[in-house]
Amino acid sequence: MDALIIGAGVGGLAVARVLLAAGHRVRIFERAAARRTGGKAVLIWSNGNAVLSDLGVSLDGAGARIDRIDALTAGGKVRTSMNVAHAADRYGFVTQSIACRDLLDRLAAGLPGDLIRYGVGCERVAQDDSRVTATFTDGSTATADLLIGADGHHSVVRRALWGEGAVQPATFGTWQGLSPIDIEITDTSRHLMISGREGACGLMPAGKGLLQWWFDTRWSPADPRPAAPLAELRRRFGHWASPVPEVLAAATEDDLEFFGHHWNRIRRVWGEGRITLAGDAAHTMPPTLGQGANQTLEDAWVLGRELANGGGGDVAARLRAYETARYPHISLVSRLAKRNPANWRTPPMLARLFPETMQTGLLARFSNRLTQGGRR
Ligand SMILES: Cc1cc2nc3c(=O)[nH]c(=O)nc-3n(C[C@H](O)[C@H](O)[C@H](O)COP(=O)(O)OP(=O)(O)OC[C@H]3O[C@@H](n4cnc5c(N)ncnc54)[C@H](O)[C@@H]3O)c2cc1C
Repeated sequence: MDALIIGAGVGGLAVARVLLAAGHRVRIFERAAARRTGGKAVLIWSNGNAVLSDLGVSLDGAGARIDRIDALTAGGKVRTSMNVAHAADRYGFVTQSIACRDLLDRLAAGLPGDLIRYGVGCERVAQDDSRVTATFTDGSTATADLLIGADGHHSVVRRALWGEGAVQPATFGTWQGLSPIDIEITDTSRHLMISGREGACGLMPAGKGLLQWWFDTRWSPADPRPAAPLAELRRRFGHWASPVPEVLAAATEDDLEFFGHHWNRIRRVWGEGRITLAGDAAHTMPPTLGQGANQTLEDAWVLGRELANGGGGDVAARLRAYETARYPHISLVSRLAKRNPANWRTPPMLARLFPETMQTGLLARFSNRLTQGGRR
């Protein structure tokens, strides 16, 4: 079969790999002028790493292995420790951080050179009983048997299927950077999650002397961008226990990137006819569980399984089978990501009424419940 993929992020590249392996013809259309070279590092858990291995993508030598996640109070007290190495022992795949640019490079390695057209944004999609057509910003069109919208959390393809307003802002946003900051954990396999009244901070080794650091604060789309965000972060978090002040001292404005988080209710059927979605386009969620990219990789794997065995069959039925297979799992992960207490960024006035350890305690209880098999 002939497939169009909109977006060359984690989802688009992973889907391309599985479809090519199954013998389909694939074309990817990417709005950006070139593959991303900056940006954050993400955590690839055992589930994502298992899919990558199946796609023939190795993360060896990239990022850093993560064996332990410690949840701390703002005062520096360890409230709980997650033994992530246990998952590696159990499932045979390690959890590791990796810069998004390295992940994209590895997903793209070995793909045909002319597979991706850069600098063409999809403007609209249309279909009839036998074909689907995408129209691009440069006026060109492409027609195929099926189309996968892997165009992220502002997806044009999703908007064509679901209309406006399906994705809601979450209550918080993240200021983050990936930079060479030399603190005690930078060259270890220990990841810190620190929470307190002012918000949350994450510190994750990212390999080769790099540290992925972030600060979560309350946010709404109407909020103006602070004139000096780093100064604001220092004011807000600078009194927390070490190593937070050291990280803030070493960070620069140039390192800083902001993400306002969003969430959508997962639909049992998220595509229509010959069109489906993968990744954030289908399931945008706050990054509190670090599962967005991992779930995107799972999408690609399941889609590949449903579209295996070459052409033939009812395309629409195969795409619906993929969505049905993904629904129970992704809707659970998405709900957990939304309900995670780390999202409950209490307004400062209210936060003063709670003991400092309360938010960390809630996060610890939530993590324990999650690691006991998702019972709620
Ligand atoms: C701060 C932060 C931390 C995160 N941490 C983690 C983590 O630790 N672990 C984890 O698993 N996940 C994490 N995530 C989530 C993860 O980044 C996403 O879930 C993942 O990138 C989704 O991949 P995607 O391919 O669906 O979308 P994207 O990566 O957004 O890719 C979409 C692509 O489509 C392109 N595009 C958009 N519109 C169009 C158009 N109209 N036409 C053509 N191309 C288009 C974009 O340019 C982009 O290249 C985090 C997210 C954030 C914001």
